[in-house]
Formats: sequence, C-alpha cells, structure tokens
Amino acid sequence: MSVEIIAKKRNGIINPIFNCQPCGAQFAVIGIKDCIGLVHGGQGCCTFVRLMFAQHFKENFDLASSSLHEDAAVFGAMDKAIEGCKVLAVRYPNLKVIPMITTCSTETIGDDMESVQVRVEEYLKKEFPDRDIKVFPIHTPSYAGSQVQGYDIAVLTLVKQLAVQGTPNGKLNVFTGWINPGDVNELKYILSEMGIDTNILLDTSNFDAPMLPDKSGFACGNTTVEDFVDSANGIGSIALYKYEGGSAAEYLDTKFKVPAVVGITPIGIANTDRFVQQIAKMAGKEIPDSLVIERGRALDAIVDLGHMFLADKKVAIYGDPDLVIGLAEFCIELGMKPILVLFGDDLGGYKKDERVLALQEKVNFDMEVVCNADLWELESRLKEKKIELDLILGHSKGRYVSIDYQIPMVRVGFPTFDRAGLWKYPVIGYKGAEWLAEQMANALFADMEFKKDKEWKLNVW
Ligand code: SF4
Repeated sequence: MSVEIIAKKRNGIINPIFNCQPCGAQFAVIGIKDCIGLVHGGQGCCTFVRLMFAQHFKENFDLASSSLHEDAAVFGAMDKAIEGCKVLAVRYPNLKVIPMITTCSTETIGDDMESVQVRVEEYLKKEFPDRDIKVFPIHTPSYAGSQVQGYDIAVLTLVKQLAVQGTPNGKLNVFTGWINPGDVNELKYILSEMGIDTNILLDTSNFDAPMLPDKSGFACGNTTVEDFVDSANGIGSIALYKYEGGSAAEYLDTKFKVPAVVGITPIGIANTDRFVQQIAKMAGKEIPDSLVIERGRALDAIVDLGHMFLADKKVAIYGDPDLVIGLAEFCIELGMKPILVLFGDDLGGYKKDERVLALQEKVNFDMEVVCNADLWELESRLKEKKIELDLILGHSKGRYVSIDYQIPMVRVGFPTFDRAGLWKYPVIGYKGAEWLAEQMANALFADMEFKKDKEWKLNVW
C-alpha cells in the first residue's frame, strides 16, 4: 500500500491535459469588469482559446488579438500591440484596463512590452485626458509553464500593477483560482452567511448572462479595477488554489503585510470545514447554523451513497493541480480509491506539495501520482490492462478514454464542453460535496443499467 509519485518517462505529449500559459492569463482577465485582454500574438492564440471558453460557458464575451503575421517575426510587432490598444480605447468608451498578454511568438521576437506600455500611456493621456485606462503587459511565453502558471502570473501581475496601499477596508481578499461561476456563487453564499465583507478576485459569477429584450447578451467579470487597487488594504487574503492565485496572495503579504493563507481548497467535507474555520478566524466571525445545516445535508446525502455504491470504487483523476488534489482527498473521504492521479505539468513542485505527501498517510491501497502527465498516461494503462477503473474524474478532453473503454466519467474542471451547464454547479463547499457525490453515484447507476451489472440494486435501494 503506497503512493508512488513519478514523472512521465516519455518525451513529448500525447493528448495534453493543459493548454498554454496565455490561455490561463486569458481566463483570469475575463473575470474583470470593463477590461479587454489584448492577446499579443497570432490570431489563433486568442481565437482558439476564446472558442474553448465559449464552448465551456456557451456565452459571448470580449477578448482581442493584435493578430500578427509573418512580417512581425522579422521586424517585430510592437506597433501592432500599440495599434490594438488604441483601437480598444476608441471603440470601448467604458474600458478601464487593457492587459497585454504575450505569447510564444512575441516573447521570442523580443517585443519590448514595457516600452509599448509607456507609448500607449502617452497616447491615452493625450487623446483621452479624462479617462483612466490602465495598460500593462502580462508575460506568458507559452514554452514555459502551462495554463496553470499563466493564470497565476496574470493574477500576480494584476495585483502588482494595480494594488495601492490606502485606508484599511476590513475586507477579506479571496483569490478564487480557476473555478467555475457555480463555485464563485457558492463561495459568495458561504461568505455572506458568515457576514464576511469580501473582495473576490476573480468573480466570474456573471457568466450566466441572461438574454435581455435589448439583445445585450455579453458576459463579463464582476471584479473591478478598484477591487484590485483595494486588495492592498484587506484584513487578509485566502487563496483557494495554491497554484492559481497563490502567488498574488503571497505578494500582498510580503509587500503590504496583508496576511495570506494559501491552498485550502474547499472540496469535500473536511476541506470545507478547514476553509470555513480559517475564514471565521481571519474575519473574527462565528460559523452560522445555516452552514452547519448545509453540512449536515451533505453528510446525509453522502451516507446514503458512500458504503453502498461509492466505497472501494477505483478512480482516475486529472486536471488543474489544486482541483485534482481536492478531488483525490474527497474520494478518499468517501472510501473510494483514487488509484491514478495525473498532473498536466511538472512545474508546481507537486512532488513536494504537503497535501500530496499527506496522501501517503491516508491510503490503504496502491496509488500512482504522475507529474507532467498527458491523457496517454491514462489510456495506455487501460490499454495494457495495468489498471482497472470504475470511474474517471476530469474535463471533457478525456471523454474518448471514457467512451472507448466504457468507463463512466464525471466531467469536472475546465473545459466541460460536452455536457450542458455543468459550470453553473459548484464542486466546492458543502453543496459542492453533495452535488459531486451524487453526480458520481448517478454516473455509476447509469453504467450499471447500461452494462446490466447489478442494476437490480437500484430497485431495492
Ligand atoms: S502555444 Fe503559442 S502559438 Fe500556440 S496558442 Fe499558445 S501562445 Fe499561441
């Protein structure tokens, strides 16, 4: 009975789990109000990422591209970035921030983006003296890191560029990490039940955009530039995801003495308990009865399912590192066996992550943790019959492994384009634990019926 933490031994990637750094930065900036990210690179670096976001949310929103062509590789493309910023400022009268997200091509060309920033600021001062538009680069060369680091770098850059020390605001900064709007709503619910005044960085809850009679149907983030400015004045910061937003919380701690707690990901009952206790301590609040009742409801649902259907089920999990760690911990809490855990890069020091190391104490089965993994690491083990699985937890890009090997799958994380509306439901908090346990059970039920495997149990349960 052991946890083996290894790195993928092959060179190259077959069916990657992650996208590139600029993708993560783009996900971060769509969480900001009156903000349009300008992706400085070839058009596809923006178009394909934006398409994936749109497929996930089934919503429309703004992202821009400086749209480079061959000549840029020879002569540089600073003028394209400057032109792009000018166009955005002219076209969008309410625009307050333009983060310029670099890509592999523009970082390789060596475009001096800090000089672009100065030149655009000069232009804006001259042409729009009454407007305050912030412009700055977010450096995300895609040959380093992955979407995970891209998100983290973007949030860190936003805080570095915008946070200003002023009057203490009594608010708790909450760095969400790459979570779904349903998770943000659950987070806001927990915080409001506890009476905690918060600064949510980044609030994507508006991505469930209604279709209105005036035909406005664009989704945009809820976090304002002012929220970032004010993040230096909070009573503390909590980052749900260590690898996506953790650096920004730590920066505020070092630079402005805003104490940070990083990496309590409230997935599952025990982790949500820790999260709720931690924010109660930071904000000096009591835990209300409403959350105790909600916890009880989740426990009740889990007890109904745990021993009869979920216990001992063998699971493979892949996706964003904090999500994957939280899901593995929750599966163990439910008596399930996450025998294969895949991290899509090797950059976060996952081998040394204390939550990963702590799994060693918790498991009574053999578990394999693969860093820098791809989806072939999952498929090859099934193909070669090295493992047997009852369930897969991961995003939609692994759907063919589920289909080809007839293993039930619960879509979780990003992207989940082949299922309707999943992003509206939380996986965090007590509600998330309840929902996730029931989703896993329902996936197993459907599989029992499909394979005519002990489906009679569902009649007598
Ligand atoms: S890998 Fe490079 S070229 Fe491809 S989308 Fe990412 S930034 Fe653009």
